[in-house]
Amino acid sequence: MATRRGGYVWLQTPEGRQRWRLAFRKMKNYGEVDWDKRTIWLRPGQSNEELADTIVHEACHVASGYGSEPKIEGLLKAVAADAIVMLDKVGLLRKESE
Ligand SMILES: [Zn+2]
Repeated sequence: MATRRGGYVWLQTPEGRQRWRLAFRKMKNYGEVDWDKRTIWLRPGQSNEELADTIVHEACHVASGYGSEPKIEGLLKAVAADAIVMLDKVGLLRKESE
């Protein structure tokens, strides 16, 4: 599996564009938003597809300002799943071994 790197990114938020950190740490969830530290945490060991799904999902949390209430989680799961289908259609989600 490719080495995963984090870094700093500018993200859309309800307060405008902000500099956020993208970083990995061991945890139960695939991804988490830390609003105080402006950090999106990602669980290590995810496949390309899982990571793409997680990043789209967490970026939507940051952009919307919405937390994890069930209605929002359902919406973001669907949006991320749709994004994965599109990324796969254009060939961006080839297996790491290919
Ligand atoms: Zn979520």
